[in-house]
Amino acid sequence: MQRFDYRREASAESAARTMSAALGEGGFFAAGGPRVPLRQRAQFIAGGTNMTDYMTLDVIQPQLLIDINGLAARHSNIEVTAHGLRLGALVRMAQAEDHPAVRAEYPVIHETLLLAASRQIRNMASLGGNVLQRTRCEYFRERSWACNKRVPGSGCAAMDGINRQHAILGTSDRCIAAYPGDFAQALIALGAVVETVGASGSRHLSFEKLHRLPGDTPEIETTLAPDEVIVAIDVPAGPWTRRSHYVKVRDRQSYEFAVASAAVALHLEGDVVREARIALGGVATVPWRAREAEQVLKGQVLDVALAEKAAAVAFEGARVRAHNAFKVGTGKQTLVRALMETRAMEIQP
Ligand SMILES: Cc1cc2nc3c(=O)[nH]c(=O)nc-3n(C[C@H](O)[C@H](O)[C@H](O)COP(=O)(O)OP(=O)(O)OC[C@H]3O[C@@H](n4cnc5c(N)ncnc54)[C@H](O)[C@@H]3O)c2cc1C
Ligand code: SF4
Repeated sequence: MQRFDYRREASAESAARTMSAALGEGGFFAAGGPRVPLRQRAQFIAGGTNMTDYMTLDVIQPQLLIDINGLAARHSNIEVTAHGLRLGALVRMAQAEDHPAVRAEYPVIHETLLLAASRQIRNMASLGGNVLQRTRCEYFRERSWACNKRVPGSGCAAMDGINRQHAILGTSDRCIAAYPGDFAQALIALGAVVETVGASGSRHLSFEKLHRLPGDTPEIETTLAPDEVIVAIDVPAGPWTRRSHYVKVRDRQSYEFAVASAAVALHLEGDVVREARIALGGVATVPWRAREAEQVLKGQVLDVALAEKAAAVAFEGARVRAHNAFKVGTGKQTLVRALMETRAMEIQP
């Protein structure tokens, strides 16, 4: 690990200003441009469970770490109203997982947190850091391999390497790395909105617009400006939030990332689907909303045959490599199971 300077900030505004100043003079990218996290010489750090991992591997080499844990005084609350759920960015994963209203009213959020990492990591990891965690692609994590995400233009060792864990949806000729997180699947399914603060002010953006497809520039992973700090995540309430569920399939039953996962939320009238929300994890390069599959369900009676039809539509665009073709079948089965288990949930009036 390389030497770095450390600065702790107490507010989002001061953290953004510090970042902007650090990048402005001799920085790789001007404030306001796209966020290219690996090459950025200053980095935010929250729980540090992802950042220190990549710093010790020398994948990320910041000269300045801006610690945003001081923002917890203002941004670590969980608020539940009739309109929705507001989660501060410095809320720890375990804190949200344990919250009674999250469990009862937004079970898919509770489950995505409960099934992630280990309790020790969830005690430390923040929600803002969780949604911005980096891919687990082994070629990204090991500096001796070619990786367009780590070194733009260097190639992609995963294309013809061991690509069992890699994505089959949203891939490009430059990168096939899977987005690893679970919580993001709940957020994209429920139509969450992210609030940020940057040096030039605050804004709200749809969670669906936060992550970028790899395309020709896999090194640019989000639409955030380099100086933008996430301060909160708002999840709107809807008649589908209580009937929501997450199924995660992984190589071992604990402390493991998803091979395939599905977050589902349904509004049913009898057996008829009035509204359906579907997100897929483990199979795509970004948190993945399966809108076409949702359309298959709307207005129909949900049974196994309909769930299989929706799953087939969800994976229509899949592009497989040598070792990950099995994810098409596993992904479909995961979605069918999630849909049928969500339908079977007993919802208290
Ligand atoms: C062994 C292991 C297993 C894991 N398994 C899973 C799993 O199964 N499922 C899963 O979802 N996750 C898993 N994780 C990932 C873990 O959940 C993340 O490391 C954690 O959520 C990151 O949160 P953090 O606060 O520690 O982020 P940090 O490490 O502090 O930061 C992560 C990134 O986010 C940026 N950042 C942090 N907060 C903000 C903010 N508010 N605004 C702007 N930028 C910010 C940082 O600059 C950095 O780029 C696992 C991790 C480990 C080490
Ligand atoms: S899949 Fe993406 S992250 Fe993995 S080696 Fe290729 S370019 Fe790098």
